[in-house]
Amino acid sequence: MNGSFESRALILQVSWIALVSTCLLFPGRLHGEVNWDEEGDRAVGLLQTYLRIDTSNAPGVPGATGDVRAAVEFFERLLREDGLEPRRLVHPEDPTRTVLLGRLKGDGSLGKTLLLEHHMDVVPAEGQWTHPPFGAEIHDGFLYGRGTMDDKGLGILHLQAIRLLRREKVPLGRDVVFVATPDEEIGGEKGAAWLARSHWDLLDPALVLEEGGMGYAGKYNRGLAFEVQVQQKRVFWLELEARGEGGHGSVPRENGLLVLHQAIERVLDMPRPPRLSPPVAATYQALARDPEAARRVMTAIATDPSERARLTDSLTLTQMEGSKKVNSQPRVAKAGLDIRLLPDTDPAEFLGRLKKAIGDERVAIRELHPREEVGPASPTDGPVYRAIEAAMAVHYPGALILPTMSTGGTDSRNYRVRGVPAYGFIPLIVPEGDNSRIHDVDERVRVEEVKKGVKVFFDLVKALAEKRS
Ligand SMILES: [Zn+2]
Repeated sequence: MNGSFESRALILQVSWIALVSTCLLFPGRLHGEVNWDEEGDRAVGLLQTYLRIDTSNAPGVPGATGDVRAAVEFFERLLREDGLEPRRLVHPEDPTRTVLLGRLKGDGSLGKTLLLEHHMDVVPAEGQWTHPPFGAEIHDGFLYGRGTMDDKGLGILHLQAIRLLRREKVPLGRDVVFVATPDEEIGGEKGAAWLARSHWDLLDPALVLEEGGMGYAGKYNRGLAFEVQVQQKRVFWLELEARGEGGHGSVPRENGLLVLHQAIERVLDMPRPPRLSPPVAATYQALARDPEAARRVMTAIATDPSERARLTDSLTLTQMEGSKKVNSQPRVAKAGLDIRLLPDTDPAEFLGRLKKAIGDERVAIRELHPREEVGPASPTDGPVYRAIEAAMAVHYPGALILPTMSTGGTDSRNYRVRGVPAYGFIPLIVPEGDNSRIHDVDERVRVEEVKKGVKVFFDLVKALAEKRS
């Protein structure tokens, strides 16, 4: 017995040595035949090409029409090269808003589809950039460009995952569908919202991977933390229109702007007590596992406006309009309020309180955005969340994985409202101090992380779609 035990132990030891030496000798070939170095380089090259396609989307800003057709052609060519038949869905009223789908078939034994969705449009690149925003230049290990993190980098990781599943002939238990959408940066009405409304039969997903959460260095603790977006706040944009007396500026009257000013004061004074909604409670529970992160978040609640925005119905005054001339009083004045409601706040009830707070019939309130349903938070004990945790434990051991609620909106709500769990997860890391670059100047990504992200995403998608034997 003893002898055979020892020989088994020896064989085991020899096979471990063989495995470790194989890994050291062929670091690029840990997964079957995939050459990860080559595929990583390919991803970086493709991302550069993608970044050079200007898809700026902000109607009113010159050149920022949000036309994604060149990006659609780019992906069509790549999907065809990889043997997939791309499908274009053109918005009936606006051909610049086109969705592209690419489907890899599975046998259905695991159920419905896994969607890999990203948006092709970007916010305009205003301000002074150190490196040209559509130049995709690499400096000191960083690739610079509008859309590197939001959201073109993710699009390339999705494309690479689907390509490698096919090349590696991974047997799939469900379809995996690549989805590239337009229009996200202005609300997605002619993008993901239209797609879900008009072509649900083509999607019919069980699971969705999207944007909304990414990695952060030094934000929650000294190490790395990856956010996984499981919920988001509701957009509730309002316009206040106040009417008063007009006249020459030399004789003060109760003019429209003055009426508006009083109304805004009352709105800003409206009590909006902090509230712990379930997805935020889940974030704090995850943070509580790390004493340093728990300490930091306590400070952040007191000092950081982005942390406080997770705990309240936020209300931001963003626009005011009165007279065009300094010496004439406006009869009518307008203000814009960017309100983001917690997912469990009832918009009608909130609006009722707001009207009561204003208490002035001279002020009309108009909703600027269709009332948004956000659906239930995506579960943190389901297969997607667990697969993300497992993939990150392999590739970023020790990193905190945090379920989060975004204060901004993403396309995921279109799935959650239809009862489909959607997860915002980008395995790229925002370096410490880089947070504001995403919709600002000098957006960038570390080249090495794009390369590593190819592996992470392949593992994640494989775990969710590979047929069980
Ligand atoms: Zn985005």
